[in-house]
Amino acid sequence: MIHDPRKSKNRDMKTLIQNVRLYKQKTLVDLAIEGGRIEKLGSNLSGDFQQRVDIKGALILPGFIECHTHTIFGGHRGFEMEMKFQGKSYQEIAQAGGGILSTVKATRAASLEELQKLTLKRIQNFIEQGVTTLEVKSGYGLNLETEIKMLESVPKDSKIEIIKTFLGAHAKPTEFASHDEYLKELTDVFLPEVKKRGLATRADIFIEKGFFEKDSSRAYLQKAKDLGFDLTIHADQLTLSGGTEVACELAAKSADHCIQVSDVEIQKLAKSNTVAVLLPAADLYLKCAYPPARQMIDAGVKVALATDFNPGTSPTQDLAFVGMLARREMKMTLDEVIQAYTINAAQALGLEKTHGTLEAGKVADFTVWDEDEDSLFLSVGSMKPKMVFKSGKLIFENRSGL
Ligand SMILES: [Zn+2]
Repeated sequence: MIHDPRKSKNRDMKTLIQNVRLYKQKTLVDLAIEGGRIEKLGSNLSGDFQQRVDIKGALILPGFIECHTHTIFGGHRGFEMEMKFQGKSYQEIAQAGGGILSTVKATRAASLEELQKLTLKRIQNFIEQGVTTLEVKSGYGLNLETEIKMLESVPKDSKIEIIKTFLGAHAKPTEFASHDEYLKELTDVFLPEVKKRGLATRADIFIEKGFFEKDSSRAYLQKAKDLGFDLTIHADQLTLSGGTEVACELAAKSADHCIQVSDVEIQKLAKSNTVAVLLPAADLYLKCAYPPARQMIDAGVKVALATDFNPGTSPTQDLAFVGMLARREMKMTLDEVIQAYTINAAQALGLEKTHGTLEAGKVADFTVWDEDEDSLFLSVGSMKPKMVFKSGKLIFENRSGL
């Protein structure tokens, strides 16, 4: 067993991971870990190590970073998916009790303990695919009490890092007459309260024509920024509504979806530090267009990928599914998919200085694989690493293949 470097008594303990093969490299190297960070990478490292693990030439990759999920929710929307697949309209689905407000109802009704249990299980599903940093959003409460309950349902002793995003501006609850009225309440009451309680480090909003409009969203996002939240935006998913433009203007960490962007937005993204987070699993479930990933990458846009795991439009936690769609439908190369799930996803969460690559000084988050790189992001449902390390600690080992 590997020690836990986060425990203070073990903080100075040094671990050596021997004979690792880095992505697309032939020669084997060693990885020295101290205090949960990579101290050194090199051939035949020597020194005083308390732990040595020989992985015998297996491939290692930086831990995957899932940078856009709605992991916390009550209920499910299976009946609605069936209606959608059978071609029923949005109105018919809403009349049958479906839509986002059905998840709001179920999430409001769930106890904190129920949400904790569901969230823990879902986090474990991500860990077993090699995720070492996970973003989760609120946004199915739409009242202060449930938004807080959602953010509090994330286990404090989770094995991986969880980055929490406040998404009160996901949809308009029935208690409010207009989106603008609700947005004012979010700006004046919800945001300061979430900040005061330290429940989230990022703020998100669904900018879309007829929902939260671009111009009225600015004051909300500016207030969030002034309070110290990092910004991220659900942008230009259904129509070109200005979300990507606002994201670049306010230096948001990411603009997510970006399906409808034109050359103008692509150029703005390319000149900014804002990452385009693409969510092709949702695009397939919704049977809509895929974002112009190839054009974005060729223009110099940083592109990340994520599952968008949620009960209504992307009921999947499968990273291989997302990566396969990015390759098959969006012409992203395997290298680009891996970057999208590591260093670019780290940048989308503002963690690029400490996460996302295997370099001295960065956190020792990595996965060990039985397969070679050509097998990655291909086989839907069965991409599982042999071992997952978080801050130098072994947190998952797949024994089925041994
Ligand atoms: Zn989303």
